[in-house]
Parts: sequence; C-alpha cells; structure tokens
Amino acid sequence: MLIVDCEKCIGCGVCEENCPFGAIAVVDGCAVVGDGCNLCGGCVETCEVDALHIEGAEKKARADLEEWSGIWVFAEYRHGRVAPVAYELLGIGRQLADQRGVPLSAVFLGAGIEDQAGLLIAAGADKVFLVDDPFLEDYREDVYGRILVELIREHKPEVVLAGATAIGRSVIPQVATVLGAGLTADCTGLAIREEDGMLLQTRPAFGGNVMATIVCPRSRPQMATVRPKVMIPAEPDPGRDGEVVRVVPAAGLLSSKVEVLGSVQSEQDQVNIQEVEILVAGGRGLENEKGFELIRALAAELGGAVAASRAAVDSGWISYPHQVGQTGKTVCPKLYIACGISGAIQHLVGMQSAETIVAINRDENAPIFDIATYSLVGDLFDIVPLLTTRIKEGRGR
Ligand code: FAD
Repeated sequence: MLIVDCEKCIGCGVCEENCPFGAIAVVDGCAVVGDGCNLCGGCVETCEVDALHIEGAEKKARADLEEWSGIWVFAEYRHGRVAPVAYELLGIGRQLADQRGVPLSAVFLGAGIEDQAGLLIAAGADKVFLVDDPFLEDYREDVYGRILVELIREHKPEVVLAGATAIGRSVIPQVATVLGAGLTADCTGLAIREEDGMLLQTRPAFGGNVMATIVCPRSRPQMATVRPKVMIPAEPDPGRDGEVVRVVPAAGLLSSKVEVLGSVQSEQDQVNIQEVEILVAGGRGLENEKGFELIRALAAELGGAVAASRAAVDSGWISYPHQVGQTGKTVCPKLYIACGISGAIQHLVGMQSAETIVAINRDENAPIFDIATYSLVGDLFDIVPLLTTRIKEGRGR
C-alpha cells in the first residue's frame, strides 16, 4: 500500500506530475492516492521530501536484494548444438560479471549434452549448471520452466539473461512470473549502473521511436531477453578453466502435460538470415513479388540470402522469416544491400550493426542513407541488374 505522510508532504505536486497512471493528486496541500495506483513506486522516487513510501516493501526489498549475486545465462540448446545466441549472451554476461566482480554461470538443459558444456566455459562461463536428462530431449516449456525456477530459487543469481528466441520467449516470461521478477524483453543494450550495481536494460519503446532504459530496483533476479545477433560473442578460449555442476532434477520436476508428437525444423530455421554473411534486402520499392527476382539474382551471385522490410512482408511478396527489424529479425552480416527500403527506425534497429551497408534508393533524402556506408541514388530497376551483371563479369562468367 502507498502511504502518504501529510506531515512531510509540502503539496508540491511533483508526484502528481510523475504518476504515469494519474493515480495521485494533491488535495488541500497533501497528496491523496486514488484507485489506479499499481505501486510502481515512481512517485516514491520523485518525492523530494520523502513523504511517500510503499508499506513494508522497501525494507524487505533491500534485505532481499543483498542475497542475490552472480550473472546467469540460459544457454539454449537445439538441433544438436548450443544456440549461437547463448555465446552472444555469454559475451555480454562476461562484461557484466567482471564489472560486478561476480561469477558468470550458464544454465544448460538437454539430453546427451554433457560434452558441450566445455564450449560454454570456453565462451566465458565460470560455472555451468548442467541438467542432462533423457526427459529433456524435447523442449517442454513447463518442465524447463520448473527446473529454471528451482535453480534460480536455490542459487539466487542477481541477473538472468536469455535469448529472445521462440524458446526463450516462451519459457522466460513464465519463470519471471513465478519468481515475481521483472523482465525486459528484446533488450538491445545491457550495462551495470556504477552507483548501485543495477542492471540497465535498454530496448526500443513506443514503436521504436524512443530507446527506454529499464531498471528493476525492487525485485530479483533482474531478467532480460536479448535477440540473436544483437550482442557480440567473446572469442572462445579453449584453455579457460571452469566448473561443471551436474544437477539432478527432482523426479517431480520431470513430468509434463505436454506430449511431443514430433519435432520439425521450421522454414524460419532453414532461411536463417541471421547466419549468412551477405544479405540483399528488398522493400516496398520493389513494387511486387516479381521485383524480388531481381534481388534474388543479386543475392545468388554474391552467395548471400534475401531479406526484406516489413512493408514487403506485409504485402505478401516474401514470407515473414525474411523480415528484418523490430518485429522481424536482428541481423549483423558483413554486407547488407538495402534495395528500395526507406530506412524507418523499426527497420534500422534490425540491421544497423551490419559491417558494410549499401543503400539503393531513388530518393536522395531517404533516411537509409544516413547509416549507409555506400549510397547509390537512382532507380533500383536499373542499378540492381547492372550490379548483378558487373559482378558476374568480374568473375569471368
Ligand atoms: P517505404 O517506407 O515505403 O520505402 C520504400 C522506399 O523505396 C522509398 O524510400 C522509395 O524512395 C524507394 N523506392 C521506391 N521505388 C524505388 C525505385 N524504383 N528505385 C529505388 N528506390 C525506390 N519495418 C521493418 O522493415 N521491419 C520491422 O520489423 C518493422 N517493425 C515495425 C514495428 C512497429 C511497431 C511499427 C509501427 C512499424 C514497423 N515497421 C517495420 C514498419 C516501418 O515503420 C516501415 O513502415 C517499413 O520499414 C517501411 O518499409 P519500406 O522501407 O520497404 O517501405
């Protein structure tokens, strides 16, 4: 419950201005809390005379926070290998752990995976919590969730990171809910705040038009998901020392309401625009499905794959697994050729870390040129076939 101390309150109205829910108002010189209060604590932080507090919460939260220590990465395993995003998370996890002066641990769940635990240590983990059981052969959200909750409750890490993949997105919110922890999805930046060691979790907000930095000051663990290809994996060091802790889950945890009838690799995995080095991407400027044939030819000549803006995907010219951007995939190829893409912020957040960006657009003021390494102003229907032909000729074909 939010308590107002009217002895201290000076009726300045700062709480009223800062309440995002309009749930507090100054009446006769003292703040009055209304029905819409959800105890977010925004007013408590902004009150300059300490006239507001959440009953019981602060003392308990402070005591609890000190019990939590260490950075954890949920190291996803699928299709017989550690998911690449796990290495990326270990890269940023290592930096966070060093800054905090705490160990970095990986939680590794699966069947017959023990021989791969060393890869996680080489990638930066000090410790691997290995849960290797035939029952974990297929991913089941309820089982994975229960095991993660148990491990987190027992070891109390201050930070838990996971990939914003299909698996991470399904299991991690469940874990956060059971633990009563905060969770920031799809972070594009993670850092430690020097003053108090809080995890700063940055992600696009309001349709990608602003970057919001979120902290979880009152609950632990601080949980965040990060999309593949956003963080850079550390260079693996096969000589690194680390500890593998074998965890035998209680029998009660290994039961599920889910029956797995079969497992197939989705088209999304087959296209895999996140794992190719050259992407030729098309947008609305391609005009129709046929327009994509032009960029397919260029991609084939370069040994790359085809990507797209949301406008092209929404128009039905190409399927969703090819979409780059805020609601698509984040990619980081060596070369990204954007053809007939304007450069909306929601597209840029998905590709701006590409090593070299070539933009082809007939509008010289298109925002994509602001981040392009090479800007080609002109009609893509002239430029793209010309590029394809020149590359072919250059190779003597
Ligand atoms: P347009 O903005 O219409 O640009 C087409 C460009 O082609 C223009 O610059 C034009 O000059 C150029 N052009 C046209 N004809 C030619 C030609 N013959 N030769 C050369 N150039 C030509 N978008 C994404 O891409 N990915 C996302 O994940 C994504 N998520 C979103 C999430 C939210 C919440 C919202 C609100 C939007 C999202 N969008 C996303 C949509 C985004 O805002 C843009 O609408 C979209 O990226 C525009 O796609 P485009 O650049 O292909 O089309």
